Amino acid sequence: MLTIPCPWCGDRHESEFFCGGAYEKARPARPETLSDEAWVDYVTVSPNPAGPLVERWWHQRGCGLWFFLERDTLTHDIRPLFDGEDHEPR
Ligand SMILES: [Zn+2]
Repeated sequence: MLTIPCPWCGDRHESEFFCGGAYEKARPARPETLSDEAWVDYVTVSPNPAGPLVERWWHQRGCGLWFFLERDTLTHDIRPLFDGEDHEPR
């Protein structure tokens, strides 16, 4: 079981959250220039490193807001990435 630190609500059980996936995948600047294979890779392949990964999380059964955190896929250690007002990754 994970304890997820919501920037607004504090530490809560993982069952209150939905993981929106990896954040590290930037949208191609000019998608019309990509090959079909490259576009399919962008749309369907998610990063899955053995180690730290920045993810988007939604506090679905709480405040209803999205935020980012870093989760180690091997140890499940969680590091909050939010600070200030924007709650974007540092
Ligand atoms: Zn919350």
